[in-house]
Amino acid sequence: MEISEFRQRYIAAMRMSERSKIAELFRLADDLESVEKTEENYRILSDVYSHLDYYTKAYKYLSEVANPSNAKDAKKLYHLKDRMEQEGDRFAVKRPRKTKVCGSVKMPNFKYCSKPLEAGLFEETDMPEKCDCCGKGTNLIYSGPFYSEEDPDVLCPQCIASGKAAKKFHGEFVDSALALLLPDIPKANVTELCKKTPCYRGWQQEYWPAHCGDFCEFIAYVGWKEIVEMGLENSVEFATEAEGYSEHKEYIVNGGSCQGYLFRCLNCKKYILYVDCD
Ligand SMILES: [Zn+2]
Ligand SMILES: [Zn+2]
Repeated sequence: MEISEFRQRYIAAMRMSERSKIAELFRLADDLESVEKTEENYRILSDVYSHLDYYTKAYKYLSEVANPSNAKDAKKLYHLKDRMEQEGDRFAVKRPRKTKVCGSVKMPNFKYCSKPLEAGLFEETDMPEKCDCCGKGTNLIYSGPFYSEEDPDVLCPQCIASGKAAKKFHGEFVDSALALLLPDIPKANVTELCKKTPCYRGWQQEYWPAHCGDFCEFIAYVGWKEIVEMGLENSVEFATEAEGYSEHKEYIVNGGSCQGYLFRCLNCKKYILYVDCD
């Protein structure tokens, strides 16, 4: 089945950090309400509003296109009607308000991700937001995972690179328990990776491949289609943990439920592909 562009955005949003997800869902709702009113668009709108706890709209959109004799639709409608009658939009998520902060930080150098913006690990915003760690304004907001007890909303790239964010919130960007399992990598490199490197967002626990005695550099979220477009189909090496997927390359779709993560060895420059599924 062909997945619409809007459905893909919805799926991608579900994998973002809470803050980016909410912002993207509001953007998606605005875009969907301004385009052609198709059944699929109404279904996505209903899902978006249901996720944001706007049950009146979620129910309205689904009820216009649902097929009452379809058990799945009927169940969903019943649930939305119930939520609408119980709470309506009282607990709906508020549309993010941009607070004006001055100044903006620059992108520092990351050893294990030299082009973090292109790799999609930061979101670039029009107006700077306040970093929860240093308090400075930043247009570059980290959108990957951060494993800590506190869950800061906004982290600037400088606070990641300096290790300040990891120290202040006692957190890690990549799980060091996993990284330490790889043999022959100096402890300092594990610290660099886990505490000072922005991480991609995986379906499962993020795994970071190593090659030639060091961790690789993260390049991009990819599907097999992108690998072919980059001309890497014959040279890319599957990470040991993802070798099984080399027999099922067609399932690896960027933004799909079987996602590829492209890395490159810092030493021999070989491309390494890691894959996980939802
Ligand atoms: Zn900061
Ligand atoms: Zn290598």
